[in-house]
Amino acid sequence: MADSQSTPSQFEVHDASVLAHAREVIDASPSLRLVQQEVVNAVRRNEIWRGEECLNLLAPEAPTSPVVRRLLSSEIGTRAAEGHIGAVQRWFVGTRYIDEVESLCVELLKKVFHSNYADHRLIASMLGNLTVYTALTQPGDTVMSIPQPTGGHSANREIGPAGIRGLRICDVPLDPVTLDVDLDAFAETARREQPKIVALGASMTLFPFPIREISEIIAPWGGKVFFDGAHQLGLIGGGQFQDPLGEGAAVMTGSAGKTFSGPQSGIIVWNDPELTAPIANTIFPVIAATHQVNRVAALAAAAAEFLAFGTEYMAKIVSNAQHLAGALSEQGIRVLGADRGYTRTHQVILDVHEFGNGMEVARKLEEANIITNKNLIPGDRPEDWDRPSGLRIGTTEVTRYGMGDAEMETIAGLIGDVLSGRRAASAVKADAIALRRAFPDLHFCFEAPDSL
Ligand SMILES: *Cc1c(COP(=O)(O)O)cnc(C)c1O
Repeated sequence: MADSQSTPSQFEVHDASVLAHAREVIDASPSLRLVQQEVVNAVRRNEIWRGEECLNLLAPEAPTSPVVRRLLSSEIGTRAAEGHIGAVQRWFVGTRYIDEVESLCVELLKKVFHSNYADHRLIASMLGNLTVYTALTQPGDTVMSIPQPTGGHSANREIGPAGIRGLRICDVPLDPVTLDVDLDAFAETARREQPKIVALGASMTLFPFPIREISEIIAPWGGKVFFDGAHQLGLIGGGQFQDPLGEGAAVMTGSAGKTFSGPQSGIIVWNDPELTAPIANTIFPVIAATHQVNRVAALAAAAAEFLAFGTEYMAKIVSNAQHLAGALSEQGIRVLGADRGYTRTHQVILDVHEFGNGMEVARKLEEANIITNKNLIPGDRPEDWDRPSGLRIGTTEVTRYGMGDAEMETIAGLIGDVLSGRRAASAVKADAIALRRAFPDLHFCFEAPDSL
């Protein structure tokens, strides 16, 4: 199309050559219909490669069930339903069935997490964290959270929602080797800094956090624990990790699309009625307006499946992670947490510095259709974020496709082949595709009815 403009000198945060390629595709297309087809084709290429030919071991991902996928493209997703559930509290009329869907979602989430309250309107878990910091703090207050090089997430640091709320951030002191909270050092720092909130939960987590102990330390000045359960949400709901609300956390957020295996988005749960007004009145009208009712329907469907299958599914994810970790260790790869059974989550963390750095290793594995990610691990400097020593692996997807102990050993062998260089990545790739193809069916979900 001759009239499209390219402005190559414009500053972009995105990779300039990738954007330039997109402009070439648009400019070379004789019609917009074909441009649209390019989008569809790229989606299809991803579906075949990542969806059918890869061993996806990315810790934040999970395959959604057929019903969840169908609901994500449903008509209800074109409807507007600003406000709280119930005709009087909505801005628009016509929401009677939307109220049914949303109330089912809220009540199912409460059941999964044994909480008094739940909210369904967060289109990302990041927005759940923004809700917590907006509802429970004032600018200038202090928050203690886990630093990024040891598994913390921007969601609780200066560069994320806590920072833009104007909060002072102090580090939760961790043991540099085990990554456990150093409770003595914590108590000393906390008594000095008097944080209003201590955010626990991290993107790299192998073992539970001392929530009860920390809640007791910060109680004298009214400090509250906020558990960011983005990754562990499913494990918590399935009773396979700790129970943050039961152990004293005031509020928990989590990503519905990570271990919980629902549509990518966020949830928030709490028990104290005093928190209801500040949290709900932050979600609407501050954080969410058109909150994607198709996504809420998919979340409700995922929650129902979770109540039916979650305990068994989550237990299998953890046992697969433990088995994979042991098998990787037998391959001569250093696995963190070895002295404590490697992991109590869906994650396995490898120290791959002998085989290059985490980025090089992740790229090499990608050539073999094994998808993982580089990760900072204890001993790495923050500035090494692009070439850290670690590799993070998650077992959610392979578990949902029905893989077990034997397949974890096969996967460990394939990873060992690539890291040691004893087989070419291209040869390993054929085995990875064959293994993935041998497990085509999703488990731990209901079949999609024909009428959907
Ligand atoms: C993934 C993650 C988030 C962000 O969740 P989204 O659902 O992707 O918005 C927040 N906190 C932690 C610890 C995470 O790992």
